[in-house]
Amino acid sequence: MGEPKRYDVVVLGGGVNGAGVARDCAMRGLSVLLLERNDLASGASGASSGMIHGGIRYMMSDRSVTELACRDAGAIRRIAPHLVFRIPFLMPFASRAERATLAERAAWYATEVYVGTYDLFQPLKGGRPSTRLTAEELYALEPSLRPGLHGAVTLDEWGIDGARLCLLNALSAEAHGAEVRTWTEATRLLRDGGRVVGVAWRDRVDGAHGEALAGAVLNATGAWSPQWGRSNGVEVPMRPGKGVHLSLDRRFSNYGIICKAVDGRQMFVMPHEQESIVGTTDDDCYGDPDDLEATADEVAYLLEGVESLVPAIRGARVTRAWTGVRTTLYAYGATEDALSREHQVLDHAGEGAAGLLSFVGGKLASYRAQSEETTDLLLDRLGRGALACRTHEAPLPGGEDVPDVRELAARHGVAEGAVARLVYRQGARARDVLRLADEDPRLKLAVCRDEGLLAAEVVWIARNEKVRRLQDLRRRCRHGLAGCGGLDCARLAAQLVAHELGWDAERLRAELHDLLEVNWRERRPVLDGWQLAEEELLRAVHRGLGGV
Ligand SMILES: Cc1cc2nc3c(=O)[nH]c(=O)nc-3n(C[C@H](O)[C@H](O)[C@H](O)COP(=O)(O)OP(=O)(O)OC[C@H]3O[C@@H](n4cnc5c(N)ncnc54)[C@H](O)[C@@H]3O)c2cc1C
Repeated sequence: MGEPKRYDVVVLGGGVNGAGVARDCAMRGLSVLLLERNDLASGASGASSGMIHGGIRYMMSDRSVTELACRDAGAIRRIAPHLVFRIPFLMPFASRAERATLAERAAWYATEVYVGTYDLFQPLKGGRPSTRLTAEELYALEPSLRPGLHGAVTLDEWGIDGARLCLLNALSAEAHGAEVRTWTEATRLLRDGGRVVGVAWRDRVDGAHGEALAGAVLNATGAWSPQWGRSNGVEVPMRPGKGVHLSLDRRFSNYGIICKAVDGRQMFVMPHEQESIVGTTDDDCYGDPDDLEATADEVAYLLEGVESLVPAIRGARVTRAWTGVRTTLYAYGATEDALSREHQVLDHAGEGAAGLLSFVGGKLASYRAQSEETTDLLLDRLGRGALACRTHEAPLPGGEDVPDVRELAARHGVAEGAVARLVYRQGARARDVLRLADEDPRLKLAVCRDEGLLAAEVVWIARNEKVRRLQDLRRRCRHGLAGCGGLDCARLAAQLVAHELGWDAERLRAELHDLLEVNWRERRPVLDGWQLAEEELLRAVHRGLGGV
């Protein structure tokens, strides 16, 4: 262990809030260390629904949450235009009977008024106003809906790849001088009397360990905060909520569809890339956030909710069930749905830990504004005075000069579909990836046919995007998330990464095994019958061959 290095700020947690604060601090001239115990976005930020919406649900109880999220969504679209996609939702008017009751009609009218009020926020995020659809118009747009619906209202929203949003913030922080260490856990606080003066850390890949001294420490460890706080002598109150999503093997609709679960909770199915996503549950979660899996009950609950409007969903193959933990503010007595999505920055000075702040709650959609507010507080605690924030106007990496897909595909002789995916993920940097492919045409090969993922992108990511484990590719380019769960394509990607990072055969085997285990945790709850048997067999073959 060498001499401890000194920073202005050490940020714990490479979710969207930690990475966002690291970027903002670095852009305002502070020296920053960001520590993430797994990969960037391996917590809630990589497991969210990825909506940078206003959260229409919160409009009544938390109007300020809706307004902040809409305003920030507008800023995120500006700084990462390539990574944001438009996703209009339909809210169908459904009745069990052929003729709707008066009460149902009143409820639909109220919905129209409610959505109309949300329209007032749409200009903040560049969304379009809602529209009332007749039954005929609804079925013309979305023939997959069950018969007998009475019309719908539309709701314009934006989606984003949350994992890449974290990465881009971390890369931008690095470009502004921050040090970003992934797979590195903050093990304990360093104290000097009633002051926190830094953290001890341990690298979980190579076993290195050390200490970092800091003027201020930000705890942005999300769902891990309460436990981490307790073991370091501070309280971080939170009401964690488990959320499960399902991925289905194909697109079932052209639009997002808002459905009702059996208990009346709102849920949705939406098209995403080549698949559909169903989400989400929201249940209090007292367990270890490292040990979460979806249950068969949760899978059944979600499918039942969608089936009420999209009957064909039962014919779908569910390819994975993924979980995340919401980091909602603590409140006793409220149901999960009614919990506030507000955020707080806690100052632990009153607990004998001056210099330590914790970020709790909030939304992915408001991450930039949350980070700005937190950075303002850190500057205040460091006595640095106010320095202007620029994160709302400076593009994230790749967000400047996004290329035209057709023109790029024609110039490099690569299929438009694959280039569209590449430009979505990499923005301006897609040009560099394709230049790499021109230099070595073998890299134009698709590593994953389902995802249209080019070998060139895998190589480029291994070189430029802080990859330390094979499973990091899941969050960089969706490698291993398609129907095969990596069983078809992981070996090729693993060999490319191994070549770039200098892994020997033993390390390659271990990384493949790890990736397939991580994927298995998301696949096991959704497999049964022959599919389960087939996949068990393939896993055994992989293990038997050592995967190489
Ligand atoms: C199911 C679900 C759906 C959601 N959908 C949406 C949505 O559509 N729109 C929206 O706006 N919001 C949504 N959210 C909320 C949003 O995802 C969160 O508000 C946001 O991602 C929280 O980010 P974070 O950085 O605070 O936490 P996280 O992303 O959880 O990051 C915390 C990080 O800290 C790391 N860590 C833990 N302990 C340590 C340690 N000791 N040292 C170093 N690192 C450590 C973890 O590995 C983790 O990566 C959703 C959340 C869930 C769970």
